[in-house]
Amino acid sequence: MIVGILKEIKTEENRVSMTPAGVEVMTAKGHQVLVESLAGVGSGFSNEAYQAAGAEIVATAAEVYARSEMVMHVKEPQPSEYELIRPGQIVFTYFHFAACEELTRAMLKTGAIAIAYETIVDADNTLPLLTPMSEVAGRMAAQQAAKYSERAQGGRGILLGGVPGVPPANVLVIGGGVVGTHAAQMACGLGAKVYLLDTSLNRLRHLSEVMPKNCFPMMSSPATIRDLVQQADVVIGAVLVHGAKAPKLVTREMLKTMKKGAVLVDIAIDQGGCFETSRPTTHTTPTYEVDGILHYCVANMPGAVPLTSTVALTNATLPYAAAIAAEDWREVVRKHAGIRAGVNVACGKVTYQGVAEAFGLEY
Ligand code: NAD
Repeated sequence: MIVGILKEIKTEENRVSMTPAGVEVMTAKGHQVLVESLAGVGSGFSNEAYQAAGAEIVATAAEVYARSEMVMHVKEPQPSEYELIRPGQIVFTYFHFAACEELTRAMLKTGAIAIAYETIVDADNTLPLLTPMSEVAGRMAAQQAAKYSERAQGGRGILLGGVPGVPPANVLVIGGGVVGTHAAQMACGLGAKVYLLDTSLNRLRHLSEVMPKNCFPMMSSPATIRDLVQQADVVIGAVLVHGAKAPKLVTREMLKTMKKGAVLVDIAIDQGGCFETSRPTTHTTPTYEVDGILHYCVANMPGAVPLTSTVALTNATLPYAAAIAAEDWREVVRKHAGIRAGVNVACGKVTYQGVAEAFGLEY
């Protein structure tokens, strides 16, 4: 199959959908890989590195779309690309269709096959192409919390781990899923005292077994949150209620009881945020203050570390790209239930229930 790797054109997006190492694997399987010129620069990969791996460098996105049977992106196609997508062409990327009716209707019109990273499932019903970005965001949250706890950044002026003779910081992580666990692990690694809350008792049992000694998994409740925020130097919001907006777990009232200069990191901001006072921020201006409490609410945290994020993402996507390229897409989805779950739009029809329901479209 001819596979096209496009340059990301969405603002602040420096990732790329395949590394040179991925190109080498695809070409060894007999596929031809076209890479749009400079697609990898934001992630540290030159045109020459792709050529050395067996790719052909192509000057424009239009040519990649015109020649490829499957194109890959990281973010959803932008309006300038809609006209370039061909009927029957496979587009494999993050789409998040339910959040954008215009994109859904545009993809329907193209007649292409839209396979969305975010709805592919694996054998244990988890989302293998979302997990790596949750891991990045969780780990980064602890780093950002440490940075913004410094006085010059507007924080209280504390070191998360303390030093001998000085106690460590109290870090409260709300949500013990992928994001929360990685945030807690990093904060523990820095030496902080970490409270990790979740509503699932089974999850808490597991966390109690696997987390380090300076992590205290606890049942989440409004009362526990109200108590723990008062002692916290850092609060990290990492909850997810599937198919719903994030619940507001830290209220404006609670901010008044917190230490001045404490840092709130709301990773759930892409689902509306789990603190009442959260609003989305960008990497250019990541923080703002409410009642003396610093808020960090960047919606695309992995975008700040494209070298790590690109490799983490492509480690996960490559086996799926190889499976999709191996034979006719109809045969692929017949054999692989996980990839079938990723097909959101195909040949002018919505093929994913959630997307159809979001916009009242035929399914
Ligand atoms: P996940 O499903 O693995 O974990 C969510 C956890 O929250 C679950 O264990 C659930 O039991 C728990 N939870 C639900 N309600 C709770 C409550 N009231 N109190 C405590 N825990 C509660 O999800 P995830 O992959 O960890 O993602 C978490 C959030 O991070 C999502 O909103 C996701 O979209 C977001 N995210 C943001 C970025 C970013 O750049 N900002 C990047 C990746 C993920």
